[in-house]
Amino acid sequence: MKRLVIFSVFMVALAWAQKANYKGYKLLRVTPRTTEQLAYLVNLSLSPDTKGWPSDVKTIDFWRDPTTLAESVDIFTDNGALLEQELLSKGMQPSTLMDDVQSFIDQRQAENANSIAAGSRFTETYHTYEEDRLWRKNRKINPSSICIGVDTNRNFDANFGGVGSSDSPCSDTYGGPSAFSEAESRAMRDILLSLQGRVKASVSIHNNAQVWISPYGYTTERPVDYPEMERIMTAGAAAIEATYGTTYPFGPGSEVLYFTSGTTKDYVYGTLGIVHGYTLELRNTPDGFVTPTTLIAPVATEAWNGIKAMANAIV
Ligand SMILES: [Zn+2]
Repeated sequence: MKRLVIFSVFMVALAWAQKANYKGYKLLRVTPRTTEQLAYLVNLSLSPDTKGWPSDVKTIDFWRDPTTLAESVDIFTDNGALLEQELLSKGMQPSTLMDDVQSFIDQRQAENANSIAAGSRFTETYHTYEEDRLWRKNRKINPSSICIGVDTNRNFDANFGGVGSSDSPCSDTYGGPSAFSEAESRAMRDILLSLQGRVKASVSIHNNAQVWISPYGYTTERPVDYPEMERIMTAGAAAIEATYGTTYPFGPGSEVLYFTSGTTKDYVYGTLGIVHGYTLELRNTPDGFVTPTTLIAPVATEAWNGIKAMANAIV
């Protein structure tokens, strides 16, 4: 959840601007070099309150959580000077990313106002999806074609370009010029690589085939770990059904949905060795992809129950 904060830092900053003033708050970056330093940062990030914090520090919020050695973390705090001292005393060398978070917020707000005033420049820069709310692909310009976008869930290095993906840029399942040609799939890959050994499951959430699928998408040959996957999916589907009675078929994607190549679930299982790589296709509703507003909460609730059951069955 913290990670979401990093990606949406701009929106968060705007929301803050109306609520509070963060004058003097700092954003520090520090890189743990020893297991003791890493353990200290992990403890700090897990403390639910000021317990265990240096005294006179009221706010510590990790904008980038500690993960592994040599991977930097970002810490937002009201008392940068004191926290800096604390980190130095543990042998770490913190640097200051933002000296005054409030002036960053003010600056971003001014920039935003300018770009809205510029009108056409704003709409050229940001695609609003007003023409096609069900747009599937990313917004990459394909050099050889007038058609836009790559299906990032065909862009992973797992039987790339094979059955169930298209090499035509105009197709909704166009996999791109090469595996990991897209920034989005590379970002996913890099996060997963940085957490290697710690990730137990990866669930890609989609609308709306109402099915829980496991590897493989590109062959009907079953993974050696399929019995374990089946145990987990059985628990997940049962928890979903117990919520509102929605039945979720499950099984390998190639058997219960259709053939796909270059997908996240096959990459995390086949290449990263994460046993539990799934795609959860949310409930099919009468309007197809456009889930009625009244069903959004029930669909999310049952899916979340399924994911919790999955997690409990794994650990
Ligand atoms: Zn899907």
